[in-house]
Amino acid sequence: MLDSSALYKEALKLIPGGVNSPVRAGQAVGAEPKFVARGQGAYIFDVEGQKYVDFVGSWGPLILGHAYSPVVEAIAEAARLGSSFGAPTEAETKLATLIHSHLPNVPMLRLVNSGTEAAMSAIRLARGATSRDKILKFTGCYHGHADSLLVAAGSGLATFSLPSSLGTPKSLAELTITCPYNDPESLKELLAKAGDQIAAVIVELVAGNMGLVLPKPEFIEALKTLPQKYGALLIADEVITGFRVGFGGAQGLYSLKPDLTILGKIIGGGLPLAAFGGRRDLMEQLAPLGGVYQAGTLSGNPVAVAAGLATLETLTANPQIYIDLTALTEKWTTGLSSLIEAKGWPHTITRLGSMNTLFFSPDPVYDLASAQKSDTRLYGAYFRTARASGVWLPPSQFETTFLSAAFTEATVNEALARLEIGLKNFPSPPIN
Ligand SMILES: *Cc1c(COP(=O)(O)O)cnc(C)c1O
Repeated sequence: MLDSSALYKEALKLIPGGVNSPVRAGQAVGAEPKFVARGQGAYIFDVEGQKYVDFVGSWGPLILGHAYSPVVEAIAEAARLGSSFGAPTEAETKLATLIHSHLPNVPMLRLVNSGTEAAMSAIRLARGATSRDKILKFTGCYHGHADSLLVAAGSGLATFSLPSSLGTPKSLAELTITCPYNDPESLKELLAKAGDQIAAVIVELVAGNMGLVLPKPEFIEALKTLPQKYGALLIADEVITGFRVGFGGAQGLYSLKPDLTILGKIIGGGLPLAAFGGRRDLMEQLAPLGGVYQAGTLSGNPVAVAAGLATLETLTANPQIYIDLTALTEKWTTGLSSLIEAKGWPHTITRLGSMNTLFFSPDPVYDLASAQKSDTRLYGAYFRTARASGVWLPPSQFETTFLSAAFTEATVNEALARLEIGLKNFPSPPIN
């Protein structure tokens, strides 16, 4: 019989940490990774045959759940016609049209293979267009692992408490200015000091990589006016939030008009596909029209585009999905809060649409510092309990939990019932 431990040992010999992306390893939650055999709808199955209710959804892309038939069929059909040509195909324009129909601020876009590549390319374009070198990012926001953006980043860096990565040149890191999230005063000060050297302010409008952290209205207001005042471009990283918090992304929710937008995750329907786009006058500065170079052998890959199109077409045809997901997620977080409350653990749950995070801290979470007050040791215990009970969560406190359209009330009830049983043996707070 297959077993995850044995597969992990084999993987460790050939793949650093046994994984192809660090947080998967489970170090932060004191657990070895489970190897996955397959997924179906709201469920994931490990190689031992154990079934889990999946609240990770491949870290965001799978809003329709696993192996959703129309997506699987679109992939198969595209693959049969040939998987890559290095020449344009009609479907790429179709996908761009569909994205633009929901995101008015993205009249032009380029397809790439990952969110990292999209963020890196948007930064290069912003630098090229403004003839400025500096960028401003917010502590705890994650924009992929390009050199300039691995400073005070969220996701894996928050999980492993790394201020930045080794191997990113100091001279490059010096060009990245960091500001606390949700802190309009600091933003104002930093821009007053160096605003005329800043090519772009890049931000997750809704932060999903320090756990889910929602923007304060005054932060959104500052983002609407301040960068523009100093001639800095605003780059909205909607890799998670695009088509997750609604059709118009977070920029639609908060009526914000970014100069450039980064998309990924959902728009690829579970295949490697992402995009950056925005103002026509900026996008036309890309080669072959302009002097900012950006390219890719597999960019706009027909199979990935087919998966993305099938996903976005399904969402477009069923707008009720977002309403249902919001209601189901509220049911989930309410139930979860009662379970944790019953154990006597102080906690805070953030939620927006189908995104949510349980923090083991009684205080409001509004930036990285307040997120890091969460008891991560306790999160580890919660993760292990949940996994042993058949509930699949992200192996880090500093990630967002997602529901998918494959969930029903019964799925949420099942997850809560499984957790309730598992939590019977969960520790209660120490008595001082
Ligand atoms: C996942 C993510 C990225 C990076 O995308 P990859 O496809 O993993 O390179 C960038 N920004 C945000 C907000 C993300 O959540």
